[in-house]
Amino acid sequence: MRKQYRQAVNALLAAERIVLAGHVNPDGDTLGCVLAMAHVLRRLGKDVTAISTDGVPDNLRWLPGAELIVRGTERRDFDLAVACDAGALERVGRSVIAAIQSAPQLLNIDHHIPDGVFGDILIVDSAAAATAELIWQLILKLSARSNKALADKDVAVCLMTGLITDTGSFRFMNVTPNTFLLAARLQRLGALPAPIAELVFENRSCASVKLLGRALDSLKLSHDGRVAWSQITAQDFDDLNATDSETEGIVNHVRSIQGVDVGILFREVPGQKVRISLRARDGADVNRIANAFGGGGHRLAAGCSVTPPLKGVEEAVVAEALRQLDARG
Ligand code: 5GP
Ligand code: MN
Repeated sequence: MRKQYRQAVNALLAAERIVLAGHVNPDGDTLGCVLAMAHVLRRLGKDVTAISTDGVPDNLRWLPGAELIVRGTERRDFDLAVACDAGALERVGRSVIAAIQSAPQLLNIDHHIPDGVFGDILIVDSAAAATAELIWQLILKLSARSNKALADKDVAVCLMTGLITDTGSFRFMNVTPNTFLLAARLQRLGALPAPIAELVFENRSCASVKLLGRALDSLKLSHDGRVAWSQITAQDFDDLNATDSETEGIVNHVRSIQGVDVGILFREVPGQKVRISLRARDGADVNRIANAFGGGGHRLAAGCSVTPPLKGVEEAVVAEALRQLDARG
């Protein structure tokens, strides 16, 4: 990986106009990484365009530099593009791909299990708990090469948000000693984990908590008790005047039931395909289930979008989950 970091540092220092992009339905890791890079590159005097095709969800508006984020650009004069935490090229958003691909070089920095390799320079490591860990390594190397201490409190808050989001406050199986070592360094720079965790997880809209109620009301369990699933219908979204970003975290409640290996949340998002979030306990692999439906992610957290109707989608995905659990024994 040393060579890839060296290539990335060379490309970033050589470029003047840089476009950064996160993934659709953005979370704290993708936005934290895009913004941390934006802060560092601006400090290096670069012309930075930071894109999140779905903007910034309400619960992450407080991220330092959130106001820098744009939903797209008509510019095609970039020297370098950087995709942060994307998982697959399409996940930067359909209208952003052209801007990203107009740059002569693309750096792909990510911790997803690759869903088709893309990019000219790849810093891809699915052992990292969050893409924030990889961005930190890149910032260290950029600092060393440019002889500037590039990480400040804003950068630390952005990256701590990525760590806290993707590890569920340091509780998930993806946490390693490196995760804690980085968290310690970020806290020393002024990023306090408690207020960030509170802003990320306890800053919900009222509609979002009511959606949780609707989801839990619909909860179903497979005969063997190993798969649990819930749904949020178009009617639920309409009744509560809610959006899909307000369903964040609900799937963890589905997975939290004793004996459940796979928890699934189906959302009939108005005007879109059925959005599906999958979560596993260690031992199961929901990335493979999502793959069967054109999606992806990680072993323990994955997602996909499937053509309606909801009922047929539910039956197919639950059947696939059971089939894969059976095959594993
Ligand atoms: P979530 O359920 O929170 O939307 O997503 C869980 C994980 O799966 C995240 O890491 C996310 O990036 C990934 N993911 C969600 N939906 C898709 C998808 O449609 N395709 C791919 N490749 N990854 C997805
Ligand atoms: Mn991530």
